[in-house]
Amino acid sequence: MTASFCLLYYARLFMKIAVPKETWVGETRAAATPETVAKFVRLGAEVEVEAGVGVSAGFTDEAYIKAGAKIVTDRSRLLSEADIILRLRKPSVEEVVLLKRGAIHVSYLDPFNEKALIEQLAERGITAFCMEFIPRTTRAQKMDALSSQANLAGYVAVILAAAHSNKVFPMMTTPAGTIAPAKVFVVGAGVAGLQAIATARRLGAKVTAYDTRPVVEEQVKSLGAQFLKIDLGETGQTKDGYAKPLTEEQIKIQREAMKKVCLESDVVITTAQVFGRRAPILITREMVEAMKPGSVVVDVAIESGGNVECAQPNQITEINGVKIIALFNLPGRVPYHATQVYANNLYNFVEEYWDKANKRFILKLEDDIVKACLVTHEGKIISDRLLEAYGQAKQ
Ligand code: NAD
Repeated sequence: MTASFCLLYYARLFMKIAVPKETWVGETRAAATPETVAKFVRLGAEVEVEAGVGVSAGFTDEAYIKAGAKIVTDRSRLLSEADIILRLRKPSVEEVVLLKRGAIHVSYLDPFNEKALIEQLAERGITAFCMEFIPRTTRAQKMDALSSQANLAGYVAVILAAAHSNKVFPMMTTPAGTIAPAKVFVVGAGVAGLQAIATARRLGAKVTAYDTRPVVEEQVKSLGAQFLKIDLGETGQTKDGYAKPLTEEQIKIQREAMKKVCLESDVVITTAQVFGRRAPILITREMVEAMKPGSVVVDVAIESGGNVECAQPNQITEINGVKIIALFNLPGRVPYHATQVYANNLYNFVEEYWDKANKRFILKLEDDIVKACLVTHEGKIISDRLLEAYGQAKQ
């Protein structure tokens, strides 16, 4: 074996994983932590991260270097030489052009709103995985970024509400009088909603919650909250555990039933979403106007359209003394932990398909999780649900 062949063979042993710095305005999170870098290095991968990749989340370049990463300042080179690119937000169309044909790209992709981007990923021969499509199965739980981030969003929503409320949350018995606990109403008791309930309860609030999926009632009660019952007729959930969309008539009945609870509440937190669709408007302007001055409404669903009629995207506004908080990227307000869990989701994903003997990512096209979240491969869009959403035939 010649020395040059040996070198080539040795070089090919290492898959190069690249982690660019997030460029989305206001994004504080990152796709890797020094801990996940060290784990990738132990798997036998070469890891390159862009300079400053984790600074806004509290991770220094020195910590990534110590973990075994190489710091790269030339972003174009970082992206164009990588075998696997890990990031949080979707790439820009301009940056997809830089990627190597056959490169593996793992990130959120916002695929229902980004047809052109998905088509470009396909055209450029990128093997793109969509984090929004990680299935809701037991095996995939450790990779489920929607859940890891929604959980933190639920926590942050309550902390923001408490900071903006004119009341304290817990009951306090003092010589100067007894303070009654704050009343919090949580609409939508999925991952974010359940964490919001748990956090508000920990702060001592009296919590009521509502969700259209009847299975949630027991989970709500087990957290010490009351469940609001509304008879909407047939509601149910999809096989993935997501809510089914309601009819206009059902939404009307729901709003009417929630109105009274909103009027009595000091804080309303809305987290109701329907996967792949605009979030339903559940709190009308009229309902907000009728709430007590000093109350707070937090619209956690704002990035998918919002549940509150008068919420202004990424703003805190006030109507008749009621504050409406509709800030984007709530997990980004606790970037250290949001990065920790997101980076773990990505590591767990890559590790699941890593051939430890040959130190390579193996694409298992027949695997359940891969089938669900692989959207483009070898020049084609291969996700059935995207082809259906785009009105295209299987390629
Ligand atoms: P989501 O973000 O899509 O929606 C949030 C909540 O809003 C859901 O509970 C939904 O039922 C509710 N909702 C929708 N329309 C509503 C309306 N009109 N009024 C009130 N509520 C409404 O959902 P999610 O938080 O991502 O999770 C949905 C479910 O999937 C949860 O029960 C969760 O436990 C389950 N899940 C399972 C796994 C797994 O098994 N691996 C992983 C994650 C989540």
